[in-house]
Amino acid sequence: MISSSSKWIKHLSTDWLWLRNHCTTVKKTKQAHAFLLRNRLFDENLAVSKLISFLAISESGKLDYARKIFTQIENPDMFIWNTMIRGYARSINPSEAISFYYLMVQSGVVADNYTYPFVLTACARLAAPELGRRFHSETVKIGLESDVFVLNSLIQMYANCRFLDVARRLFDGNPLRDVVTWNVMIGAYIDRGIYEQAFNWFEEMRQLDYIQPDSVTLLHLVSACTQLGNLEQGRLLHFYSKELALDTNLRLCNAILDMYCKCGDLESAMEVFDSMPERDLLSWTSLLSGLTNSGHFIEALHFFGQMQSVNIRPDEITLVTVLSACAQTGALDQGKYIHLLIDRYKVNRDIILETALVDMYAKCGNINFSLQVFNKMRVKNVFTWNTMIGGLAMHGHGQQAMALFERMKQEGSMPDDVTFIAFLCACSHAGLVKEGIEVFKLMQEVYLIKPRMEHYGCMVDLLCRARLVDDALAFIENMPIKANAVLWATLLGACRIGGHPELAEKVGKRVIELEPDSDGRYVQLSNLYAGIHRWDEAMKIRNQMTLKKIEKTPGYSWIELNGMIHQFIAGDRAHTQTEEIYMMVEEMYQRVKLAGGHITGTTQVLFDIDEEEKEHSLFLHSEKLAIAFGLMSTAPGSPIRIVKNLRVCNDCHSFVKVISKVFNREIIARDRNRFHHFREGKCSCMDFW
Ligand code: ZN
Ligand code: ZN
Repeated sequence: MISSSSKWIKHLSTDWLWLRNHCTTVKKTKQAHAFLLRNRLFDENLAVSKLISFLAISESGKLDYARKIFTQIENPDMFIWNTMIRGYARSINPSEAISFYYLMVQSGVVADNYTYPFVLTACARLAAPELGRRFHSETVKIGLESDVFVLNSLIQMYANCRFLDVARRLFDGNPLRDVVTWNVMIGAYIDRGIYEQAFNWFEEMRQLDYIQPDSVTLLHLVSACTQLGNLEQGRLLHFYSKELALDTNLRLCNAILDMYCKCGDLESAMEVFDSMPERDLLSWTSLLSGLTNSGHFIEALHFFGQMQSVNIRPDEITLVTVLSACAQTGALDQGKYIHLLIDRYKVNRDIILETALVDMYAKCGNINFSLQVFNKMRVKNVFTWNTMIGGLAMHGHGQQAMALFERMKQEGSMPDDVTFIAFLCACSHAGLVKEGIEVFKLMQEVYLIKPRMEHYGCMVDLLCRARLVDDALAFIENMPIKANAVLWATLLGACRIGGHPELAEKVGKRVIELEPDSDGRYVQLSNLYAGIHRWDEAMKIRNQMTLKKIEKTPGYSWIELNGMIHQFIAGDRAHTQTEEIYMMVEEMYQRVKLAGGHITGTTQVLFDIDEEEKEHSLFLHSEKLAIAFGLMSTAPGSPIRIVKNLRVCNDCHSFVKVISKVFNREIIARDRNRFHHFREGKCSCMDFW
């Protein structure tokens, strides 16, 4: 010992400094290990503890290796024992921490105020309150109950093991308690959903002059506001964090950002995001999902581009969010790019991410890519199957959807209620009436699924599309639950085309009674009257709408060009190329006229309808503007893909059919319910939509 100590002293000045900063990777630690052995310094606890510290505690350490070194140490000191116990307490194997503790006691080393917090952490993680209680009495026996570090760990242990009352007893009125103690209690109560007490403690803390809430306190409370959707309280906490100059703390900023996003205050979220001195993956992901969830898809894609430019590497959660923005806007190019990124960054391809890819390709109009991704998936869950069947339904591939349903059963996946909505929808879009009725029976009799409103809706839709207005009416009247406005509206649509004006009028009034605040219903009824030239009635409905101050949902169409999304609304003149776009619309009209014109007002639409108003000049409907822009900006003969948030109106549908022929273009349009593949004057929906 003496000889090695003198060597140690010799090396002290240079090697000690070298060693202190050297152990930053496993590889460097190996070098240090070899150095110590070579210079016979391995017996020096102070030296070897540097190696153990890094290996056992650092995120990039290696606990097994620490253990290997540990077994070679003859007389490990207190610090080394504690380090090993600490490392295991946080590992996937917390019970090893307890084993080390007993080994330590056996070897004659007495536990100190650092040891207990680590073993108590292990107890908390093992959910072992009995063991925890034993350690608790040990701490009392050796007089450590007056150590705040021990107290906090005891409270944390009891709270984690669901003994909130014991935790509370230790906390209440304890003269030792510091800010960590308060935070532990506040965090524990929020975890259990006891929000009020947590906020009371916060108020109490603010009254005390010897203690001040810190970033952890606020972090707990802000996340409580997020869970509760309490924007007002969240905002107060945000102000308070500024007061305490904690608003630069990254974790707290992320929590505040997430709170604003989830409470729907995007404006404040943007302000927080802009003012953050640094941003990590979590900040970007919160913002992107906030934007996507509130319907700001184009902005979400824009920010994703920015995130790329500052070299933040996305993970699977970010990419699922961005894929859903692509799916919503039909941004196929960007969707494909994300598919590439997944491979490039070797992102973890979990079932959610792959299902999001299937959904994106289906919604962006590329059902073949969607099927390709789907077929390559090794594991699928019911959401995956539902997404694929729903995708086929949107594209009107009824038979394929039926085949996929069979495959789903063969592969042992259990269909759920959503599977049947997708399946019935597929039957409806493909006009498979007989099959649809059978599926509806199968669902109830074999799968024992009680139909919900959505299932009844699909059935009404199915019958209406087949022009079986009387059957649909009988079906609605015999339903065990009261039909909602959507179902009646579907019937109303069928009456319009079926030439049942009296029934239509009755149903139309019924629909408005059921949904007096829905803009779509008024527009629908007014369009109905306009369609049968009863202008006074149409005007009356319109006036009612104005009186009730009902806002109309504006129709949007999107088209992606070179990875950029262009958005149009009816009569839009905001685009930088407005002049050319309107010239193109003019040309479209002339060419359609030369080709013999297009037929308006024959077929009508079913399903849950929000149509753009007829009073807007049809000339300027948003999809026409998007298609005009597509025609002038893409190569002749290439397909044009557009997406619309509402249903395509009748006139536009028939107009676009002719456009596809005279311009010799395939036009793939997704509206609220389904895809229309326009080609050579025909549409894949066979004029049912
Ligand atoms: Zn239209
Ligand atoms: Zn169509």
